[in-house]
Amino acid sequence: MTALGCGAAVLASTALFTGCSGSGPHASRPAAGQGATGHAAPDPRAAEHARMVAAAKRWGLDEVPLAPPPPPKVKPHITARAGFEVDHQEDWGLPPVFTTVPTRNKVVFLTIDDGSEKDPRFLQMMRDLKVPYTAFLSNYLVKDDYGYFRKAQSYGNTLNNHTLTHPYLPGLSYEEQKHEICGMQDIMRKQFGKRPAVLRPPYGNYNQDTLVAAKSCGIKYAPIWNEEVYVDHWEYREDDQRLRRGDIVLTHFRGRSDWDGTMVDDMRRFLNKVTREGYAVARLEDYL
Ligand SMILES: [Zn+2]
Repeated sequence: MTALGCGAAVLASTALFTGCSGSGPHASRPAAGQGATGHAAPDPRAAEHARMVAAAKRWGLDEVPLAPPPPPKVKPHITARAGFEVDHQEDWGLPPVFTTVPTRNKVVFLTIDDGSEKDPRFLQMMRDLKVPYTAFLSNYLVKDDYGYFRKAQSYGNTLNNHTLTHPYLPGLSYEEQKHEICGMQDIMRKQFGKRPAVLRPPYGNYNQDTLVAAKSCGIKYAPIWNEEVYVDHWEYREDDQRLRRGDIVLTHFRGRSDWDGTMVDDMRRFLNKVTREGYAVARLEDYL
């Protein structure tokens, strides 16, 4: 036990570490709940909150992001969104296309597409702030650095299928679509250890062949999005321009060569809005 250890604890959370002055050679026996040193046992939640406050400040956020509630034990029943059905989608058990997950939890889901920008600060930021995201990767953009995305995966994020070359799928034959989707499944298996169950068709465009081909190579869900965040603005699918519970939000692995800012700037815009409106960011796969 040193004075330094005591000071560090006080810095971490002033309100909860008041036991320091009583320690030392003349301190009385530790009370119940105290360690042998005479310090109150550190409260891990308070320490974690202090760490999050510091992380939010370091990354320039207005507020600490809200922690999501535990994943639902019973997964929501996801059906194809009205207006997005293709013929016989339900009958054939095709992967549903949807923009929002039905949930009462005040959460949104962050999805990040393509993969051209590989900003290490972005990985660090999301790890520091414990914000989960789902990446949809297109092979032609990620093949020069699979390691970057393995790192994202090692931090607990999920990698999914966004085709080999990012084509407009409805313009392709069934066989060509199958090659784009199943070919990417093989790459994902080889590079990241798993064939994903989730596909996002490029541009959110698909037809019946897309869903039949996707199903044939193990895809169970085809989420698209309800809002898209850019480094300098938001775009909404709905006219009322607001977030809803369970909304899927899209952004991209993009940097200064694509827009006026970095992925960190983009995430700052995203997190400030969702936190201000009382939403936590949850992991999409936890609801599927
Ligand atoms: Zn894309």
